[in-house]
Parts: sequence; C-alpha cells; structure tokens
Amino acid sequence: MNTTLNHCRALDAGDILRALRGHFELPDGVIYLDGNSLGVLPKSAAARVADVVTREWGQDLIRSWNSAGWFHLPQRLGDKIAPLVGAAAGEVVVTDSTSVNLYKVLSAALSIAAEDAPGKKTVVSERSNFPTDLYIAEGLCRERGYQLLLVEPDGILPALNGDAAVLMLTHVNYRTGAMHDMLAVTAAAHAAGSLMVWDLAHSAGAVPVDLQGAKADFAVGCGYKYLNGGPGAPAFVWVNPCHADRFRQPLAGWWGHAAPFEFTPDYRPAPGITRYLCGTQPILSLAALECGLDVFGAAHALGGMEALRAKSLALTDLFIALVEERCAGHGLGLATPRDHAQRGSQVCLSRSESAYAIIQALIKRGVIGDFRAGDGAAQPDILRFGFTPLYIGFEDVWHAVEHLKQVLESGEWQQPEFNQKHAVT
Ligand SMILES: *Cc1c(COP(=O)(O)O)cnc(C)c1O
Repeated sequence: MNTTLNHCRALDAGDILRALRGHFELPDGVIYLDGNSLGVLPKSAAARVADVVTREWGQDLIRSWNSAGWFHLPQRLGDKIAPLVGAAAGEVVVTDSTSVNLYKVLSAALSIAAEDAPGKKTVVSERSNFPTDLYIAEGLCRERGYQLLLVEPDGILPALNGDAAVLMLTHVNYRTGAMHDMLAVTAAAHAAGSLMVWDLAHSAGAVPVDLQGAKADFAVGCGYKYLNGGPGAPAFVWVNPCHADRFRQPLAGWWGHAAPFEFTPDYRPAPGITRYLCGTQPILSLAALECGLDVFGAAHALGGMEALRAKSLALTDLFIALVEERCAGHGLGLATPRDHAQRGSQVCLSRSESAYAIIQALIKRGVIGDFRAGDGAAQPDILRFGFTPLYIGFEDVWHAVEHLKQVLESGEWQQPEFNQKHAVT
C-alpha cells in the first residue's frame, strides 16, 4: 500500500517532539534538509547575541569575563554537550574547530602510543573519511614519523595488526550516512593495542553516542551541524579521563594553563580537559552555540536522544520508502544503509550523472539538500539529504519527495542555470 500525504500528516500529529520545531526560525517556503551541514537558527540566538554585543560587551566591557561568565563558557557549553555523547560533566570543552581539535587529540594519542607501544608506527583511517580529517592526520604523521594507512570500510579490522598505534574514524560517514558500531570497533581497536579516536561531526545531536560506554580514548565533534550553533561555531573535544592528565596537547596556550592569570613564563597544564583550550575564545560564537544546545535541554524532557533517534529513523525510513515508491525509474540508487544500526540521520541517493543539477533544481524550489562529488568509479555522485529530528516533520518529507519527483519527471534540472558549479556545493 502506498504512503499518502494524510498518513504523513498523521505522523506529525502523533509526534511527541513536534513542539521543538517552534524553537527554530524556519524560513517560509523552505524545506531544509541540510542541517547536517549547517544547522538552522534557534529563535533565541539573535536576541542572545545582540545582548552579548550591546550589554555584555558594550556596557559591561572587560568586566564581563567575570560577571557574564565569559571565561568559563568553554566548560559550561561542554557540560551541555556531555550528555549527548555519553560523557560526564567536566569531560568536554567547546573550543576551536573540529580540524584543530583533531590535531590536538591525535597528537596526544601519538604521544601515549609512543610511550606505551613504541613499536607501533601506523595511524589507520578510512579512505572515505572527511578530507580535513585525513589532511590533519597526514600532516601530523609526517611530522611525527608515522604512516597514515587508508582503508575501505571492510579493511578496518584487518588493518588493526601489530603496527596500528591509532584508529581514527568518523562515526557517521559524511558522504553515505553509514554509521560504525562504536562499541564493537572501539573494542576491536583496544584488543589490537590501538587507541581509538572518534570524530562525531555527524553524530552529536543526531544519534545517541556513548563514549564512556565504548571506553573510547578521544573524540571531537562539530558545533554548526546538528547542534545548530551557527556558521563556524566552535567545535568540541572529549578526552577519556584516564588520559586527560597524561599529556600536554601540542597547542598548549594560556587558556589551557593551570593558572593563566599568574602569567608565569613556564607552562603548567590545567588538570583535565581544560588543557585542551589554547587561546582566547570567540564569545559571540559561543553565545550563539549555547542557544542551539539549550534546545537539547528542552528535548531532554521529551525523551532526549532516544526519542530523537526514533524520530530520525522514522523520517529517513519514510524518505527512502517515498523515493522508492514515487521516483522509481530515474536512475537513483540508495547509498545509505537500510539497516538502522548502520544508518546516521541522513539519506544519500546516488546517481551516475547530473546529481549536481538535480540538487540545484531542488534548491530553486526551496528543498535544500546538497551535492557531494564521487570519483566516477567506486564512489558515485551523491544527492545528500539530512534529517534533523528537532525540526523536520513527516509532511516535509512528503513534499521534498514530491518536488524531487517533479524535478526528475519534468527534466527541469537540464536548464543551464542548474549546471553552473558554485564554490560551495
Ligand atoms: C564537518 C566536518 C568537519 C569540519 O571541520 P572544520 O574544522 O569545522 O571545518 C570535520 N570532520 C568531519 C568528519 C566533518 O563532517
């Protein structure tokens, strides 16, 4: 039996998380399926940032470091992220970018490995990992005398031989939405004597994560995707408390000092995760991110990450079913796993050609997804659709697929305007 619009409306009517949509600015005429790339604006953020600018900065000036709590924002926001990733309060700080934080934790991991397992000289990652992760790892490996070994997903466990110092993976793949079993992969890394670094860029706020339960070693994640922190929002970093005091991170700066306002010439790292801070933090950006994080506080009362995960799977299941029912015969493939245990919060459709133009035609209609280029062979081009369960509804899914169907049937994507490449795809 085919799915109907009324069925989708009934799902929205029964959605216990429906009220959370009211916390966000959702522009009229837009169905936003790109929250995995840049989350939407929380309604509270504009007024909050304006208050930080006009009152905290404009009136209170430097006093705000104390009176407005600016100095402790990295820890305060870290404590709000901790429950979303299975960490305890005091174990997470919000700071810098995902790329920079990855550099810090991978460097610390290599320092631990150099002491505990000096013979191991390889960092293992996935060839299809997000490129910045690979660039950071490659540069660091070169600096420290390690080899970066890139493997396909089914090559990860075999690569954990005697030489693997660190396994560095992104939990949910940015191109395909495929999700690793964090518990099993971390256990396999540890059984092989390797340290485990997770990138949670496409996980935090999208799927339940249990870093403590998995006994992971290090993790980083992104503030502007599912956490809705705004463009360029600071990222976060978690270090297992068993390692936190063991090593200096390589970008040791005064904000990570045990007593920054003693201004001593020698570096003494702060205990715990605070040493992963480097220099002065972007207070306006932190204020905006806190607005995004506070929506998860409201979500907690409605079932938290478990409820968000159930809705996310229902949304992606519905999208897959509707695409298969209504857009058959147009050359679309499914690049995202059907198995719930292996799926993040996005659905990726492959197409051997014109995927970019189809996305552009959809965007013109107000259905915003994005395009990720393949390599022509093993990896096809991808039409990527993110489903943020905080604000996407089931009726949105219906209309998105209806637009996709019309774009494919009309061939409107063939117009020249949809075939011009922009700087950001
Ligand atoms: C989005 C994303 C990043 C972004 O890194 P920035 O330093 O914020 O540019 C890094 N890694 C992964 C896996 C991502 O998905």
